[in-house]
Amino acid sequence: MILKFHAETPVINGFNRSCIYDLPRNTYDFLPLAIVNKLYSFENMNRDTIIDQLDTNEKLWLNYLIEKEYCFFIPQEFKDAFPKINFKWTNPSLISNTIIDISQTTSGFDFKIVEELNCKHVLIRIDNYENLEALYSLLKEKIGTTTFKSIDLHIRKKPDTSFSSFKKSIKKEIKQITDINFYNKKRDTIPSVFSPFFLININIFSESLRFNSYYNRKLYIDKDGNIKNGIEGKRIFSNLTKNVDLAEIVQSKNYKNLWNINKDKIDICKDCEFRYMCIDNRTPKKRNNKAYYFEEECPYNPYISKWKGDKDYKSLEEIGVISNKIFFSIDLKKVKKTNTDIWINSI
Ligand code: SF4
Repeated sequence: MILKFHAETPVINGFNRSCIYDLPRNTYDFLPLAIVNKLYSFENMNRDTIIDQLDTNEKLWLNYLIEKEYCFFIPQEFKDAFPKINFKWTNPSLISNTIIDISQTTSGFDFKIVEELNCKHVLIRIDNYENLEALYSLLKEKIGTTTFKSIDLHIRKKPDTSFSSFKKSIKKEIKQITDINFYNKKRDTIPSVFSPFFLININIFSESLRFNSYYNRKLYIDKDGNIKNGIEGKRIFSNLTKNVDLAEIVQSKNYKNLWNINKDKIDICKDCEFRYMCIDNRTPKKRNNKAYYFEEECPYNPYISKWKGDKDYKSLEEIGVISNKIFFSIDLKKVKKTNTDIWINSI
């Protein structure tokens, strides 16, 4: 019997620990780096040979991985029946996801221009509508006739109207509508404090291996027709009122500038075990030396595996890691000592 690791549960090493991405079950687990380095080097080896080389603690970890179905033993003759997955990410659409803001149901937004980009997933945020009939006809005649695969709607609610029955009937009639949210207050503004958002699935994982999962093939059109690469983007690439060719704009070098800047290219994140599940709306900045960094610090410190608010959390600067517009540096001795104090001396 030989050892095999599950192809759909890749292990990603961070600076301080490893993380197993359980892609089919959309969850994750942590492992010590030393355990990963040892156990994963035994793939395809005979069970008895492996067991002979493990101490008690390592055997416990192996059992844990087997229990969680991250690895298993198979007869030698089935060795080639469990091939590795090719995580190469491709997408036939010029734009995969679009957010469209509409101020009025009468604004006359032409959804076909987004459809022509082969965009399949849209979030439409509607600020105002005259009455439910006007909203219905916008959804039915303009949105329901598109080839979008999923349509999420955020609609500012008007008082005293029967929303639940409207919601039910419109979802029944327009199958692509995946979700409708009515809200009362002013639309949420972008939070001033950055917080990463995790999504664990094969699509995000594969995309993040090569691309920036937040900016890659995404489009935002604000209520004035401004074309941006994200909701928080300050840069306006053009405006729809100028009769521009949207396909040409989203294929331009400038528009695609951030698409390839995945987390392996960005200081701090490149050392984080969450980097292929983390959706991050910050804009990477380029230093003169061509390396990338973020201006705003993440609440997770990957060098000590602590979140802001956790016991013993320390900022990057406190542990000797500097990442700014001039340079990146890491005081390895100081980081090591901090980890010893947090994870060994305090136990
Ligand atoms: S450091 Fe923060 S933003 Fe960067 S990959 Fe890790 S969790 Fe995400």
